[in-house]
Amino acid sequence: MDLSPHSYIGPFRRLAGFGQTEFGDSRVCSPTSDDEVATILQTAAAQGRQVMLRGAGRSYGDASIAGETVAIRQDRMNRVLAWDPATGTLDVEGGITLEEIWRYVLPDGFWPPVVSGTMKTSVAGGLAMNIHGKNNWSQGTLGEHVDWMDIMLAGGEVRRLIPADPLFFQIISGFGLLGIILRARLRMKRIRSGSLQVVQRSVRNWQEQFDTFEEFQDRYEYIVSWVDGFHDGRGTFQAANHHPDDEPHTLHASAQELSPYLIGFYPKSRAWRTLRHFTNPTGMRLLSAAKYRAGRLTGSEKAAQMPLVAFHFPLDFVQDWERAYLPGGLLQFQVGLGRENAREVIPGLLARSQAAQLWPYLIVMKRHRPDPTLMSYLVDGYSIAMDFHRTDLNAAQLDQLFKEMTADVLAAGGKFYMAKDARLTADEAKQSLGEGPYHQFLATKRELDPTGLLVSALGARIGLCDIPSMLSSP
Ligand SMILES: Cc1cc2nc3c(=O)[nH]c(=O)nc-3n(C[C@H](O)[C@H](O)[C@H](O)COP(=O)(O)OP(=O)(O)OC[C@H]3O[C@@H](n4cnc5c(N)ncnc54)[C@H](O)[C@@H]3O)c2cc1C
Repeated sequence: MDLSPHSYIGPFRRLAGFGQTEFGDSRVCSPTSDDEVATILQTAAAQGRQVMLRGAGRSYGDASIAGETVAIRQDRMNRVLAWDPATGTLDVEGGITLEEIWRYVLPDGFWPPVVSGTMKTSVAGGLAMNIHGKNNWSQGTLGEHVDWMDIMLAGGEVRRLIPADPLFFQIISGFGLLGIILRARLRMKRIRSGSLQVVQRSVRNWQEQFDTFEEFQDRYEYIVSWVDGFHDGRGTFQAANHHPDDEPHTLHASAQELSPYLIGFYPKSRAWRTLRHFTNPTGMRLLSAAKYRAGRLTGSEKAAQMPLVAFHFPLDFVQDWERAYLPGGLLQFQVGLGRENAREVIPGLLARSQAAQLWPYLIVMKRHRPDPTLMSYLVDGYSIAMDFHRTDLNAAQLDQLFKEMTADVLAAGGKFYMAKDARLTADEAKQSLGEGPYHQFLATKRELDPTGLLVSALGARIGLCDIPSMLSSP
C-alpha cells in the first residue's frame, strides 16, 4: 500500500446496506496493518473527514454506510494469526469471515460457537453487532466466546481488552462507533462430525409455535422456526444437535460445499432472476404454502442428518437472493420480546401487517437469552424477523406500518436489533435501550472519541454520533 496520505482517500464509491434501501457514498480504504489503519485515521482527521467502519456489508439497514465519509474495510486484514487445536482457541484479524473460519477449523473437528444466518459476516462486523445464531438460547452471542480483543481508538492508541474490562461489552455491540476491532481470540466449539441431527415439525398456529419452542429448548442446541407470513402462526419448526458420532469424512470442507445448482441443474447464480417473479403477494403466498406442505411431507420427529453449512446458511444457497427484491429493496423488522409478552405481541405484529396487506415474505422466529452488552438487544424470550419488499408504491405505507409495530414493541418493553434496523428514531432507540445505557454509551463515546471521528448513518439516526452533513440535510 502506498503510504503517502493522499493515496488513502480515493474516489467516492456508493455503498449500500444489504437490504438495498439505504445508501451512502464513501471513500473506501482497505488497510493491511495497524499502522495503515492509524494513518488513515490521522489523514482523515487532518482533512476534516469522518470515518465509518465497514465489515462485509451484511447489515440490512444503515449500520455500515454514511455519506461523505472515509470507509475503513478490513477485508485485507483477514488472517488467522494463531490456531491451537488442543484448546480450540483461534486468533484472527477482524476482517476474517465466518466462512473463512469454518473452512480453517473444521478439518480439526471445530466449528464457530455462534454463526449468523449468512457465513459472509466478518468477525469485526459480527462483534460490533454482537451477532446471535439459532443456538442463542443455549450458547449466547458471539461476544460471549471471545477471550480478548485488540482495538484501536480514534486517536490511534491500541488496547487489549478482556471480558472483565468495563469497555469490553461496550465495544461489543458498540455499532463501530467506539473503536476499531483489529484482532480477537475466539473459542471454537469442539465437534465430532460435520453433520447435525435435525428434527422438523409443522406447526399449525401461534400456540403450537410457542409450545414447540418450549418443548425442545432444553434438549436441542439449535432451535428456529420459519413462519408463513400469509397465515396465523403456521410454519416449520426445526431443532438440531451436533451429530454425536465420529464421522471424520464429514469434517472436510468438500462435505459442506453448497452445490452451484438448485434442484440438481438450475444455476444458482441465475436463481434470483427467477425468484424475482415470486416477490409479490401471489408468488410468495404460493412459495410459502409449498414450503409448509413440503415441511409436512418431509418433516419428521425422527432426526435426519444434515451438513452444518446447509442447516446454518440456507439463504447463502441462493446467490444474490436479495436482488430479487429490486427495484425497491428489502426492509427487515427484527425485534425481541420477553417471554411474558411474546405470545401476545408477536402474533399482533403479523396481524397488523396482514391487515395493512403488507405481507412479510420471510419470517424467522428464535428463542433468546439476555446478552451482557451495554447496548443489549436480547431478552429472555423470542425474536421475530420479518422481511418486507419495499416498492415505490408501498414505501409510505410500509413506514407507517413500521411506526405502528415499533410502538407495539416499545409498549411491551421490547428490543430492536440494530443490524437489521433502518427506521428507528433517536427517541425510540433511547426508550428501547434504556436511558441509563444510552447515556453511558454517549459518555464513553465522548471519552474514547472526543472529536467524533467514528460515525455511521445508523449512529447519527439514533442519536449516538453526529454527522454534520447529515444533520444539515432536510
Ligand atoms: C442473510 C443474512 C442473515 C443474517 N442472519 C443473522 C443472524 O442469524 N443473526 C445475527 O445476529 N445477524 C444476522 N445477520 C446480520 C449480520 O450478521 C450482521 O449485520 C453483521 O453485523 C454483519 O457483519 P458484517 O461483517 O457484514 O458487518 P457490516 O454489516 O459491514 O457492519 C456491521 C457493524 O460493524 C461495524 N464494524 C465493521 N467493522 C468494524 C471494526 N473493524 N471494528 C468495529 N466495528 C466494525 C460497522 O460500523 C457496523 O456498525 C444476517 C444478515 C444477512 C444478510
